[in-house]
Amino acid sequence: MKKLIASEFAQHRIFMGRLPYNEDLIKSMENFCREANIKTGEFSVIGALSSVTTGIYDQKQQVYVTAVKKGEFEILSCTGNISIKDDVPMAHAHIILCGGDGRAFGGHLFSESVIFAGEIVLRELSGETLLRVYDETTGLMLWKQ
Ligand code: ZN
Repeated sequence: MKKLIASEFAQHRIFMGRLPYNEDLIKSMENFCREANIKTGEFSVIGALSSVTTGIYDQKQQVYVTAVKKGEFEILSCTGNISIKDDVPMAHAHIILCGGDGRAFGGHLFSESVIFAGEIVLRELSGETLLRVYDETTGLMLWKQ
């Protein structure tokens, strides 16, 4: 049986902030992490988007199938983590939204997803640096073990 392998981290700084109007959600978080020198962390975001790009990973073809929606969407839940890919902080986020009909949808969050309003809680973790590397089995960029 394969085992879960995990490293131990301690909670470091905690940031709460407002995301910028009309900017990309993923890029805004990654830029903040670069400027604040955050290499590892986790976050949650609530708010609203005016467009969103979500994806589902096709496990056989090993590609993301994405969909772009424009409109008025509430972020019901958006959580994810920060780790290092190609020497810079990368935000991996999943999101659940709803539109005017109240129906929920979501997936893996991509750029471009445009912020109407957003609030983030970002928890920096200290410990060894988590690096994303290509994983042969899944075709994904996963944490190096
Ligand atoms: Zn994902």
